Amino acid sequence: MTNQISDYAIATLGSHTALQILKGAKDEGFHTIAICTKKTRKPYDSYGVADEIIEVENFTDYFQIENKLIEKNAIIIPHGSFVSYIGPEKIFNEMRAMHYGSKGILDWESDRTKERQWLTKAGLNLPKLYKTPEEIDRAVIVKFHGAKGGFGYFIAHSPQEFYERMKDHPDEHDFVIQEYIVGVPMYVHYFQSSLTGELEIMSFDKRYESNADSIGRIAARDQLDVDIHTSYTITGNVPVVVRESLLPMFFEIGNNVVEISKNLDHTPKGLYGPFCLEGVIDPKLNFRVFEISARIVAGTNPYTNGSPYTWLRYSEPMSTGRRIAREIKQGIESGRLEELLG
Ligand code: AMP
Repeated sequence: MTNQISDYAIATLGSHTALQILKGAKDEGFHTIAICTKKTRKPYDSYGVADEIIEVENFTDYFQIENKLIEKNAIIIPHGSFVSYIGPEKIFNEMRAMHYGSKGILDWESDRTKERQWLTKAGLNLPKLYKTPEEIDRAVIVKFHGAKGGFGYFIAHSPQEFYERMKDHPDEHDFVIQEYIVGVPMYVHYFQSSLTGELEIMSFDKRYESNADSIGRIAARDQLDVDIHTSYTITGNVPVVVRESLLPMFFEIGNNVVEISKNLDHTPKGLYGPFCLEGVIDPKLNFRVFEISARIVAGTNPYTNGSPYTWLRYSEPMSTGRRIAREIKQGIESGRLEELLG
């Protein structure tokens, strides 16, 4: 391994957060590669963020072109689509190209039981889980495993309603029943630097979900008339700045999550790089966390030019994508790249 960033490239799948990852890498001086399909390459051409595009028939064909990436000394940045198309097991067992971030941690975030164990140990306030539909005694949200972008989730208030709504999902057997928290959604975007050991808060967002975010546009009586059910399909992300007095709490819980991750199986280096805690803030200002993403999240996309928080710290445009590239650049230049690879 050399100490010159010109000997390396930064690559990712053309989807999810690839625009800001590649733009950020270019701004830091890297050669950038987008892996695209014929159908999905247009934005990566149009915005000029990729020095090179490698085309595949399907994203799942990643392994067919991996040798090319290895020849180019490419460092792969995993994001939500990468993890979802390739799968945490294959990333852990079969991927040979350089991978930014811990591979083992992806298994902890994608398994709801393991994730819950981790977050509970870190002292987070999680929504109650129901083992059986018979126990439903208040509003619950039913989530299907592997549901993409909240598609198909539904709300129920009783065992009867649960079974009624499940008739629309005859083939689904893998789901969780979670207490529904009434409050506002809040997603916290963190960056844990391996080089400085410091945790940074990059930004916040809330999701823009169909139809949950438009139901208030229809009077309750009309909703009942046409039998509308709430769904949570993600269509985009909306930037948020939080009440400043909540920031100490967000730093504290982020640090706890990182600390506990150091003792999880198969993750000798613990959690580092970008990650996100996803939850709802209730009217008493409790942050009820329902999920962690142990990699860059799409909620950072509004901030290709930096967020109000990164501006405070950097006084230059600093997206999460660029922060990753800066960490890798500093790792390469100081001979510490190995510490950043999972
Ligand atoms: P998820 O796929 O777990 O990130 O959830 C998708 C969306 O469902 C979130 O953005 C929330 O709007 C909503 N949601 C998920 N879990 C809960 C919960 N326990 N209480 C209230 N809303 C939730």
